Amino acid sequence: MNQFVFAPDASVTLNVQGSEARFPVNRVFCLGRNYPWGDAQDAVRQAPMFFMKPASAVVPAVGELVYPPLTEEFCHEIELVVAIGTPGSDIAEERALAHVWGYAAGLDLTRRDLQMAAKAAGQPWEAAKAFDGSAPITPVVPVSRIGHPQQGAVWLQVNGVERQRSTLEQQIWSVSEIISRLSQSIALRAGDLIMTGTPPGVAALQPGDVISAGIDGIGQLDVRVGARR
Ligand code: MN
Repeated sequence: MNQFVFAPDASVTLNVQGSEARFPVNRVFCLGRNYPWGDAQDAVRQAPMFFMKPASAVVPAVGELVYPPLTEEFCHEIELVVAIGTPGSDIAEERALAHVWGYAAGLDLTRRDLQMAAKAAGQPWEAAKAFDGSAPITPVVPVSRIGHPQQGAVWLQVNGVERQRSTLEQQIWSVSEIISRLSQSIALRAGDLIMTGTPPGVAALQPGDVISAGIDGIGQLDVRVGARR
């Protein structure tokens, strides 16, 4: 007999590159500032700031992105995504990479106007960051295939014009440091994703824009921005 009061949502999963198996998504953690942006904050390595998106925000990075409601400033952020496969808490930096199952490229889509309003009012960021479809992610590439990439271009183009370009070496907090710090706050679970911050060049998207973006050696996405509803 069905023990649920209604049918539960199917779990969110991502494709795995080179496999029919799927990666089951648990939670989505996101890191704030993690690349030099050429301002005064660069002088200080501030403690990493984490926020979250619901797993239901994760969508395959293909086809058309939904232009979200309630915004006039819908922005792109290309990011390295770390896919956790082994749970743990209080993970030492030296052991952190052993908890990674794979890597992907993803977009931390943002309603920037709502984020700015939230910052100004000292309010939380969910309205800006956690909307439906706000985390398009490429297939996960297993560590067994690519190891732990320490370098590689991180880039994004809109309508063929480059908007963001950096390299993984530029990240302020390494993947090991991010995993260690986050696991001091919460127990990481298998299936957790960590979006590790975006390089400078974030800007607004318009309906009809074509986005090409990726992280060399890990994944590339090509999507189009849909119409406002
Ligand atoms: Mn971001």
